[in-house]
Amino acid sequence: MALATDLRHFIDEAGNVLELTDQAKMVFVFLSEIVLALSENIEQPLVNVNLKCNTRAKQLSCIGEIKAKSITLGLIEWHCDTCQACGTITHWQGTRWDKQQRVLH
Ligand SMILES: [Zn+2]
Repeated sequence: MALATDLRHFIDEAGNVLELTDQAKMVFVFLSEIVLALSENIEQPLVNVNLKCNTRAKQLSCIGEIKAKSITLGLIEWHCDTCQACGTITHWQGTRWDKQQRVLH
């Protein structure tokens, strides 16, 4: 089952990370790593995120690698190259994990 996440659920209006449960914190770290990797390589069709599948939650044992791509503007899709885990991330643009802003044209 795909995990649909909205980055706004993890941050306050000032863009700071909310007080999260340990489980939510793991998920957020996982998601923010994907956003960092993807936004730095936004021109690539598929980005290898330097992240193991099992960093999503404590009980997971999959050591597959996470891949991510930007399907449409503002929508990131990620999946594990080993198991069926996958998900989407929205509302990540303009957050402090969006590295696109640092690029000057
Ligand atoms: Zn996996």
